[in-house]
Amino acid sequence: MNEDCKFCKIVQGKSEAEIVYQDDAATAFWDIHPKAPVHILIVPNRHIASVNDMQPDDETLMGHLIWVAKEVARQQNTQKGYRLMVNTGPASGQVVFHLHIHLLGRRP
Ligand code: AMP
Ligand code: ZN
Repeated sequence: MNEDCKFCKIVQGKSEAEIVYQDDAATAFWDIHPKAPVHILIVPNRHIASVNDMQPDDETLMGHLIWVAKEVARQQNTQKGYRLMVNTGPASGQVVFHLHIHLLGRRP
């Protein structure tokens, strides 16, 4: 838990979000400013700032996040086509430094 991190607060239920999936390792919730008809963020429950901050032990966790993205895509009925996007570093446009996968669906 990073006290200053808004996604840590969402994971812990200390900040409001529309959570669509949660398990021991991952949480998925609607992006507050959706840029597609389906725009959900999938985050690890443990604070990892970005892909650049991954440790070797985090490999399995990253695979799990993609698994969750697939499950949420099906739940949201966008399994026929969607994009998974991970901004990494300020130069990419990353503004929230708690690793997250954008799931963007139902936009051709
Ligand atoms: P990124 O540019 O990859 O760091 O994207 C951060 C995303 O988080 C943006 O799409 C924001 O709209 C979204 N966001 C920021 N604060 C919240 C929040 N409190 N709840 C849900 N989504 C958020
Ligand atoms: Zn965090």
